[in-house]
Amino acid sequence: TDFRAHSLQTCLQRVIALTESEASRLGLKLVYEHPQAPLLLWMDPDKMVQLLLNLVKNAYEAMNPGGVLYIRMKEISNRAVVEIQDTGVGIPSDRLETIFHPFYTTKDYGTGLGLSISYKIVQDHEGTLEVESIVGEGTTFVLTFPVLTAAE
Ligand code: ADP
Ligand code: MG
Repeated sequence: TDFRAHSLQTCLQRVIALTESEASRLGLKLVYEHPQAPLLLWMDPDKMVQLLLNLVKNAYEAMNPGGVLYIRMKEISNRAVVEIQDTGVGIPSDRLETIFHPFYTTKDYGTGLGLSISYKIVQDHEGTLEVESIVGEGTTFVLTFPVLTAAE
């Protein structure tokens, strides 16, 4: 692992660069809101990108053409908060815990590993990960991480 002070916006920019051509090919839109000043976290940047990429890919895979992915980044009382909201198929309430289990997938060619790996990465960064969903309307994953302050 390679932990250092790194900007969360830079990580998301990489995830967007990796996914934007596929998203536009599928007719999906992105709305990304973030603070101008870098949100610095103590992180392993490659792991952070892997985590965000898993959530963004799942969101795109859940949507039909015309779908919109909203990514909202903000700072709330020394935590970085990232909301990843899709207008996709949604997740039944009795599956909201199961989705984090290794090998659980509803996709023909899914591995079912993305969310279990993501959850581990969140824990390694002293983060939190929560999900809310309404079947037929969409799903929102909410991440929080401690922000590095000048004294640290
Ligand atoms: P995979 O993507 O390989 O199926 P994941 O661990 O990433 O594995 O996700 C597990 C399952 O959780 C998915 O197959 C899907 O059923 C559900 N899921 C995850 N994210 C979403 C989402 N944004 N919208 C709807 N379902 C989701
Ligand atoms: Mg996945």
